[in-house]
Amino acid sequence: MKVHNVEMVISAVRPDQYPEDGYPEFALAGRSNVGKSSFINRMIGRKALARISSKPGKTQTLNFYKIEEQLFFVDVPGYGYAKVSKREREAWGKMIERYFTGREPLKAVVQIIDIRHEPSNDDCMMYDFLKHYNIPVIIIATKADKIPKGKWDKHKSIIKKVLEMDANDPIIVFSSEKGLGYDEAWAEIEKRM
Ligand code: GDP
Repeated sequence: MKVHNVEMVISAVRPDQYPEDGYPEFALAGRSNVGKSSFINRMIGRKALARISSKPGKTQTLNFYKIEEQLFFVDVPGYGYAKVSKREREAWGKMIERYFTGREPLKAVVQIIDIRHEPSNDDCMMYDFLKHYNIPVIIIATKADKIPKGKWDKHKSIIKKVLEMDANDPIIVFSSEKGLGYDEAWAEIEKRM
């Protein structure tokens, strides 16, 4: 998809704040600093749109970006940031659970993983959670430009193995820096709209 129009519609914490347009929604999840904002920005062809409250410690909200009057990207606050208090972590969990499990327009969660490293416990927990609730998952293995091309397959296999990935779930090698994987990622999203 060639994106021309993006509008940040709302930062929501509660269901009554979610938009009511009815467009299909794709949530973006990943641990803090994994490259989630960079992924969003690359996908929508912007330099620095997805920056709102992405800093750890700031108010944790679900940020709804309306794209081309066709779909929403929903930026979910990153997980696994060590300095977050127990109370904040619980509030995060509640907000995510409420959105992920009760949101009819949610078509898939795009889970961002760093291709260089084994998925963390938090990555595995997120994936298990999504599978448990039968929410379709698209795995993005990002920062691919940081390792040689010859190692992509091996790193992909490690991610699949550690997450115990369902063979039907797509895993896309991506680089926000180079734009690698862009067409494939949009294709996976568009076929679920
Ligand atoms: P977020 O916290 O998950 O939103 O992560 P950011 O998108 O802010 O990215 C964290 C850091 O990783 C930043 O310094 C980015 O420039 C860098 N980064 C993100 N994606 C890529 C990528 O595909 N390639 C490279 N080389 N760096 C990346």
